[in-house]
Amino acid sequence: MLKIGILGLQGAIEEHENALLSASKALNVPISLIRLLNPEDLEGIHGIVIPGGESSAMILIGNKTGMLQAVKNKIESGTPAFGTCAGAILLSKRVRRTLNSEVSEGAFPVVDIEILRNGYGRQRDSFSTVINIEDKPFEAIFIRAPIINTVSNHVEILSLYQDKAVIIQQGNILVSTFHPELSNDNLIHRKFLQIIGNFVSPNNDNYK
Ligand code: GLN
Repeated sequence: MLKIGILGLQGAIEEHENALLSASKALNVPISLIRLLNPEDLEGIHGIVIPGGESSAMILIGNKTGMLQAVKNKIESGTPAFGTCAGAILLSKRVRRTLNSEVSEGAFPVVDIEILRNGYGRQRDSFSTVINIEDKPFEAIFIRAPIINTVSNHVEILSLYQDKAVIIQQGNILVSTFHPELSNDNLIHRKFLQIIGNFVSPNNDNYK
């Protein structure tokens, strides 16, 4: 049984739970889910989802409870993580809060990219478009989404939109600037379950 925690401080939590359950059924891989609110909730977790929402709010809330530091330690020790939108910002090594601001580290700085918050500007707060992932169309919903400006060599780009990477993988970490949990397609959540499965039992073909 794969135990997956969803950072439960704020944001699109239930939608990720539903997408993970649907991916688990499709792959026939049993999972259990827990909302991560306090450091002790991380006990025995095999994978962590950092949902979209408001990264600054998550930082404020998570700092008070020690949750941010605990999640940082867990991810830095190699636990697979999947960040969407605000979650992508938190997982980035280099974050620009605005076009002209200095670069600073995300809360869980493991992914070797530079990301710009609210990169599509205010007038285009939200939009949906069809991108290509693994040669298949995927409806990508962008909500006050960040833009990934630069990507290091060891980061794998899984899809582009307007010449910018919108979903990437670096080892056990998956990051998307859009909200896959809001589409009907559970492809990306299946992919994350496969990453966790390989992490938990590297030779288990069921998860490949
Ligand atoms: N703009 C938000 C932030 O900076 C992210 C938006 C989202 O997660 N949908 O955190």
